[in-house]
Amino acid sequence: MIVDALVIGAGPAGLALAAALAQHGLRVSGLTPRDPASRWSNTYGVWCDELEDGLADRVLGHCWTDCVVYAGEHELALNRNYGLFDNTRLQTHLLTQCERGGMIWQQGMAGRVEHLADYSRLTTRQGAVLEARVVIDASGHRPALVQRPAATDVAYQAAYGIVGTFSRPPVRARQLVLMDYRANHLTPEECADPPTFLYAMDLGDGLYFVEETSLAHAPAVSFAVLEHRLRRRLAAQAIEVQEVQHVEHCLFPMNLPLPDLDQPVVGFGSAASMVRPASGYQVGAALKRAPVVAQALAQALGSERSSPGDIARAGWRALWPEQQVRKHQLYLFGLASLLRFDQPRTQAFFTTFFQLPRQQWAGYLSDTLSQRELLQTMLRVFRQAPNSVRTTLMQTAGGERTLLWRALIG
Ligand SMILES: Cc1cc2nc3c(=O)[nH]c(=O)nc-3n(C[C@H](O)[C@H](O)[C@H](O)COP(=O)(O)OP(=O)(O)OC[C@H]3O[C@@H](n4cnc5c(N)ncnc54)[C@H](O)[C@@H]3O)c2cc1C
Repeated sequence: MIVDALVIGAGPAGLALAAALAQHGLRVSGLTPRDPASRWSNTYGVWCDELEDGLADRVLGHCWTDCVVYAGEHELALNRNYGLFDNTRLQTHLLTQCERGGMIWQQGMAGRVEHLADYSRLTTRQGAVLEARVVIDASGHRPALVQRPAATDVAYQAAYGIVGTFSRPPVRARQLVLMDYRANHLTPEECADPPTFLYAMDLGDGLYFVEETSLAHAPAVSFAVLEHRLRRRLAAQAIEVQEVQHVEHCLFPMNLPLPDLDQPVVGFGSAASMVRPASGYQVGAALKRAPVVAQALAQALGSERSSPGDIARAGWRALWPEQQVRKHQLYLFGLASLLRFDQPRTQAFFTTFFQLPRQQWAGYLSDTLSQRELLQTMLRVFRQAPNSVRTTLMQTAGGERTLLWRALIG
């Protein structure tokens, strides 16, 4: 049987898009190496206001109202709620929608795909043949099928985290620390190394999650350095790790180029460079954008004459309209600046950033600003930041002229 859409991958992006497609009454099938219900191991956070009404209650395991950052020495209250997904609940929520639409999951790994006049034929690495009018690749950062230009100087987010119990609470009761860039426990030489911060939260019942994170660096900061820094940070506060329940190793690229938007396979999620260069977050974006892309695909599938290329193009256009592409270039420019900051400049930058009006910093992180508002936000940071940060920003502008040109002129 030739289905309407074949979704490859059952990560957050694959499930979000599969669920949205199934709701359109399309015939959808999925391909995944494991049972799609097998639990994702990553801890996924999200700003609660990114979720559609009522969804937070159904899919979050935790929600914090006491959310702060320490960019310099002082605590900055964010006044914005932050949540951690309960992966099982989110997966169940999305898989139920898939099931209601009659979607079928097959087990296997995507191998190669060929495109015929009115459908695509995918052969799995195990030799099975699956046919669909459009193939969607949501297989993650190293996509099975989506083509992307070769990337140089890839910056990675890297983190080493522990879920466990501690001799003393690493954060206040019911608190989330989004970023703690304080570095008094480091020697001046260590401060010259790539900056890292603590991401930490109270999970209740005496459990905490603490994670030393490098927001972005090329090459990636190693897990050994991150673990060492986490232990140093805890030791400086006389905190001992008592019981480790889970260790998280986090590593993914932050600035991969956009894929070719004309290719006959649509990408979604990190396969389509949807990781936000400002934060590394993507799950909230996948949930929000899936209905938009599904709508465009459903419309293109509505015409029997549409070829796989036509349908895929409609999906790509919905995912990466010109405005969004330009904003992405601005975000990449922002990330390029960040990569030049040492520890003191990073602290100064985020102190300025989180003191912007909430609508601006929150909009920047959640990608809800128009291109004009994004530029205004960036210019405001430039105006309000100390000279050390401004000089680096100007150097980036000089070194990244092409990126800026593409963002502003297209
Ligand atoms: C440890 C960690 C923590 C993170 N924390 C956050 C966070 O707090 N908030 C946030 O928004 N983002 C976070 N991210 C970033 C990003 O959202 C995740 O990487 C996310 O998992 C990307 O989702 P995805 O569905 O695009 O890809 P993936 O989650 O990688 O899923 C891809 C799926 O495709 C399958 N697959 C791969 N190859 C094939 C193939 N050939 N054929 C069939 N199937 C295939 C894989 O098995 C997998 O199931 C985190 C990333 C990591 C690594």
